[in-house]
Amino acid sequence: MSMNNVGRPTAPQSTTASGGFSSLTGGRGLLQDEVLIFERGGWNKTGVDLPEATIQADDLGDLIRTAPIGLPGLSEPETMRHYVRLSQKNHAIDLALYPLGSCTMKHNPRLNEKLARLSGFADIHPLQPQSTVPGALELMDRLAHWLKTLTGMPAVALTPKAGAHGELCGILAIRAAHEARGDDARKVVLVPTSAHGTNPATAAFVGYSVREIAQTDDGRVDLADLEAKLGPDVAAIMVTNPNTCGLFERDIVEIARLTHAAGAYFYCDGANFNAIVGRVRPGDLGVDAMHINLHKTFSTPHGGGGPGAGPVVLSEALAPFAPTPWLVHGPDGLRLEEEAVGEAAQAFGRMSAFHGQMGMYVRAYAYMRSHGADGLKQVAEDAVLNANYIKARLSDVMSPAFPDGPCMHEALFDDEWLEGTGVTTLDFAKAMIDEGFHPMTMYFPLVVHGAMLIEPTETESKHELDRFITALRALAEAAKAGDADRFKGAPHLAPMRRLDETLAARKPRLRWRPEAPASLAAQ
Ligand SMILES: *Cc1c(COP(=O)(O)O)cnc(C)c1O
Repeated sequence: MSMNNVGRPTAPQSTTASGGFSSLTGGRGLLQDEVLIFERGGWNKTGVDLPEATIQADDLGDLIRTAPIGLPGLSEPETMRHYVRLSQKNHAIDLALYPLGSCTMKHNPRLNEKLARLSGFADIHPLQPQSTVPGALELMDRLAHWLKTLTGMPAVALTPKAGAHGELCGILAIRAAHEARGDDARKVVLVPTSAHGTNPATAAFVGYSVREIAQTDDGRVDLADLEAKLGPDVAAIMVTNPNTCGLFERDIVEIARLTHAAGAYFYCDGANFNAIVGRVRPGDLGVDAMHINLHKTFSTPHGGGGPGAGPVVLSEALAPFAPTPWLVHGPDGLRLEEEAVGEAAQAFGRMSAFHGQMGMYVRAYAYMRSHGADGLKQVAEDAVLNANYIKARLSDVMSPAFPDGPCMHEALFDDEWLEGTGVTTLDFAKAMIDEGFHPMTMYFPLVVHGAMLIEPTETESKHELDRFITALRALAEAAKAGDADRFKGAPHLAPMRRLDETLAARKPRLRWRPEAPASLAAQ
């Protein structure tokens, strides 16, 4: 197989699934292969007509360039095609179901996009005088109102830019609250074993050490273990609800009670809020702080194409420590308080240079208003119904990790059903690509062996779910029938086969270099 000098195969490998047939030049049924833009060369070409530059050598002195800098040159149509071809290699929620568990990959309505592009929102500058942007401030205030109402919490910090950033905001507020009481003995944050990796990472980043809480056989926080691990050294507990096994924490009110009795705060990871929005108000459960991933629950695009947004709702106890800026209703209308003065005197600081992701605020608010309160409740109900449909229709061929009772918004399977087939969770996931489906989340949560976590969301129709289920059932049957080759070599039909993801993560090659030695290319 030929590789380019960053180790990427330059042509699709031959396929076995299509009878060993491969194209002669790398195309694939009207889908052309695409190399890196630098590999296209064309150094002396450009897509635009520019007048000859009239730079005086004297202006630049020593800094004048003496050699070409190697920028690729493409004509306008070539440029267009290059990026469209690359986009065809990228899976997107607009192409098909995107079943990644814990990610809530749902449809992003075009209405949101249209509103976010209104010039009154899109073209304002963060340094513009506040008096010139009353509409933007009003939208932020209304968004804040919906977030507080839906969660039953009195305050919200809008600025964090992702779920993980929201966690940081919440834990910093908790630390500030302990410090304000002069309590500096609390050095530990409790985190269940099934937690998303960002939870322990956040706690460690703020300077806490992490103590794990065990999980019961039915996938929930072990209350006895929690009680044993709570103490005067515990600053907070971080619990996801519904949790990363896709299950509602039945004892959540008791978890909050025990936590508060020990003088600690309850941080709820709200990434899975989509499963309960409009049905459950976290404030009623005793939560002190919770981030909401607007890009999950309220349909704004995810981080990679981002930016995301992770506002944090706060309880009465934590609200005074929220980061600036604060929206205040003054005599002249809405105003952003930028300084830690007045009511904001105890603010722990700032989470971002400006006021957060305006475009995400607009999209999320548009989504809320187009659904209405009743529509948002139905979002949660349909998301849970869809996940349970998948669980019910696959439980006879795959093994659900927690077979008893319904799940919430995601269906979790383990790899017990693959035992003896020679097929692993990874092989199975890769084979899904050959069937036209993006794999589900694999090997997470870590507490479930060979986990496969499927989150369909409410935006998939029964027809689409049935197609997905048919594909998974067919694959499951092939695995059990001993067709291990189909899985070991998968994906057969994708432009790239199995990549060495570990090597790519440990030694990423982020730079294209024109002339790498042959030994590098061979890697
Ligand atoms: C997605 C997710 C996060 C992190 O959110 P980001 O917006 O990706 O930073 C944290 N916890 C859970 C449970 C999640 O699913």
